[in-house]
Amino acid sequence: MIVNNSLEEVKKRENALSIIKNKVENNGRSSLFDLTGLSGGFIASPSDINLLETYVGPAIFEEELQIVGKEHMGGDKVLPLNRTSSGILATILTLVSKDSNVVHYLAELPAHPSIPRSCKLVGANYSETDNFEEFSIPENTSLVVITGSTMDHKVIDEDEFKKVIEMAHQKDIPVMVDDASGARLRTVVFNQQKACDLGADIAITSTDKLMPGPRGGLMAGREDLIDQIKVKVNQFGLEAQPPAVLAMLNGIKNFNGNNLINSFERKDKLFELLDEKFDNFQKTPTGVMISPEGLSKEIKIENNLSENDLAFVFSFILLRDYGIITIPPVSMPGASATIRFDLSTTDAFKLHLNDLNKKIESSFIKLQEVVSNEDECREIVFSF
Ligand SMILES: *Cc1c(COP(=O)(O)O)cnc(C)c1O
Repeated sequence: MIVNNSLEEVKKRENALSIIKNKVENNGRSSLFDLTGLSGGFIASPSDINLLETYVGPAIFEEELQIVGKEHMGGDKVLPLNRTSSGILATILTLVSKDSNVVHYLAELPAHPSIPRSCKLVGANYSETDNFEEFSIPENTSLVVITGSTMDHKVIDEDEFKKVIEMAHQKDIPVMVDDASGARLRTVVFNQQKACDLGADIAITSTDKLMPGPRGGLMAGREDLIDQIKVKVNQFGLEAQPPAVLAMLNGIKNFNGNNLINSFERKDKLFELLDEKFDNFQKTPTGVMISPEGLSKEIKIENNLSENDLAFVFSFILLRDYGIITIPPVSMPGASATIRFDLSTTDAFKLHLNDLNKKIESSFIKLQEVVSNEDECREIVFSF
């Protein structure tokens, strides 16, 4: 096994960042193709930045974010956070008591790890299911969680979404929606309603997923709950800092749903190209992906690597040889090792699909060449 625990995940991320730094320094930013769908960004004019240096700026940006954020998310009030995970943690710290139940419905397992981890921290009993028939809300439940779109971009059925909210509200239980990418993917590509408009009490989105914003979280929902959660957020330092608030505001203003819709069409072409050589790529709403299990089925060479390790080595080869950034090399501990090629981001429009297909194919050939040599694989993942 190569990447075996959270510390090793942190180490592989450090290595990925130094590969990226080196490429930028030697060959410029244009040598990188960020296909994570989380390409973030920091849109700010010089006058915005000047304002940041005064006490006035944060007041202006936070107030404007109330307007722009509510348009994007719905709800009575928004709260900018350091990350989506911070918002999930703060909601659970606020609403969930020890020994109570938290039940989670999502289109496909697994949930984002911040949800079970936060429940564990408060001593709650957590359960999750992707089988709607099996979903029920037991006695002594303090919070119902719904994921709008999973880490692998599996989108919930809107009728099931509504039914889960209805079931929770019949028992007066609040509903938190993890809408990290869903706030845009569900609404723009699948024409679903905003989580708050469907009745969610709290919804949280990630401001760098499928939009040109910084890594951060934006919570929206019922004012009374947001106020209570805000206390925890400030007590534990989970709030977004003024520079991030500024970039969130501009990121939302610059969000262009057409990129999502265009990538929806381009992904079919890429899928067809890949499908000539591979059997295990799948379509996502805005690109293609291959799961660790799928990747291991493609490999015909004897090896001792775990499925996740194969995904890490493959994605590091894509990064090292072609500057293609996917999530596994740069992800935080516990994230999915699925390799997703998101076509909705600016960098994706700079790549010809034939060219991208060839880069993926030749990275795969290199993967097959090294896969039986564990030491070499370890070096690809950890040492630059
Ligand atoms: C990305 C993601 C998160 C976490 O977002 P962070 O900003 O990394 O905290 C939570 N849930 C889902 C479904 C995600 O895709």
